[in-house]
Amino acid sequence: MPSRGDVQPGPGDALVIVDLQNDFLPDGALAVPRGDEVVPTLNAAIAIFEQRKLPLVASRDWHPPNHCSFRAQGGPWPPHCVAGTSGARFAPDLRLPSTAILISKDVTPEADTYSAFGRTDLDTRLREAGVTRLFVGGLATDYCVRNTVLDARRAGYAVVLLLDGIRAVDVHPGDGDRAIADMLQAGAVAVEWAQVA
Ligand code: ZN
Repeated sequence: MPSRGDVQPGPGDALVIVDLQNDFLPDGALAVPRGDEVVPTLNAAIAIFEQRKLPLVASRDWHPPNHCSFRAQGGPWPPHCVAGTSGARFAPDLRLPSTAILISKDVTPEADTYSAFGRTDLDTRLREAGVTRLFVGGLATDYCVRNTVLDARRAGYAVVLLLDGIRAVDVHPGDGDRAIADMLQAGAVAVEWAQVA
């Protein structure tokens, strides 16, 4: 475990909140078990990043109605996060400031990258803001969090994974734990937000 001083948010750091959208909450179309539990943790993280005037990013699935990941198109998932619908809105309790950088992803029928870096300008915007390290939380651990973190590592960012700020779908038992292992293997550091603040 890293020491508390090593994971204090400061210059060069950004908070990335992955897909904290209604359809991924327990009553949503593609519910992540206990997905709502990450909201208080991420609100606490938002408060610290805002207070320290550090960049905040919120990604969202923003699919067309005929997206390739939906079952009607042969994909694995029920329809979810269709652009402009209530299911695609951010969790109502998430205190996202208006200054947050909004990243809409997988916006065309064939794009299914599960990553906030996939076919978006996130890398450019982070570099422009002088960001070198990402604190990452959100949903779901074994899909969009995992792929976002692995892409961040490939792009050269340091990553602090917030263990109390993520939850897994666990289609197969243990998927979430395996995803965490993959992210650590790729060089991410894992902490509980409680250790940071
Ligand atoms: Zn999706």
